[in-house]
Amino acid sequence: MKVSEKLDLINKEIYSACERAGRQADSVKIVAVTKYVSNERTQEAVDAGLIHLGENRPEGFSEKSEAVSGNVKWHYIGSLQSRKVKNVINEIDFLHSLDRLSLAKEIQKRAEHKIDCFLQVNVSGEEQKHGLSPENAGQFVEELANYDKINVIGLMTMAPLTEDEEVIRSCFKQLAVLRDSIAAKNLQHAPCTELSMGMSNDFTIAIEEGATYIRIGSSLVGE
Ligand SMILES: *Cc1c(COP(=O)(O)O)cnc(C)c1O
Repeated sequence: MKVSEKLDLINKEIYSACERAGRQADSVKIVAVTKYVSNERTQEAVDAGLIHLGENRPEGFSEKSEAVSGNVKWHYIGSLQSRKVKNVINEIDFLHSLDRLSLAKEIQKRAEHKIDCFLQVNVSGEEQKHGLSPENAGQFVEELANYDKINVIGLMTMAPLTEDEEVIRSCFKQLAVLRDSIAAKNLQHAPCTELSMGMSNDFTIAIEEGATYIRIGSSLVGE
């Protein structure tokens, strides 16, 4: 199926989820996760009108971003090793995986412009997942005050892999509560208005719980 056809289907689901939640459909942005697909398929996504593209590996990123033409905002959605920061930080617009001070320090050192960052939070507490614990996120955000290359625009999480919709929903709800509590601090470096949550299998739940960026790979660009 063409990306444009898949996009039509996903847009319908976004529209219905927004309607159920009493939200405007344009309050949700799609990040098309192109990590699995070729440069050609990625270009097809851009030609279908997708602006936000997400990748999760430093390897091959520059090559892909150079191969793809058009008005693209690049999102780095994977965990990022500090020593790889210099390879990607000046080619991206958004980072979804800020989760430790050592990473912030490296960004501060290497970035030539301010980066819009999401703090990655491990709401579900699964051991294999990256991210700050929800208890530490508030403190962490205050520690970023002197990092003028970092603008904390919101929080990001990944729901646990489960069929249990209530478990997924609860995870997203907790992220939204945490986002509100950080936004209420009114920190200049951390407006924290956005929520990056929801993937192919759970984005409608995420939208119902307030997601403003959904990260969709397989069901949108998968071949
Ligand atoms: C791969 C990936 C996605 C997209 O996953 P799909 O299930 O293919 O939609 C979203 N977010 C992150 C962090 C990912 O690594």
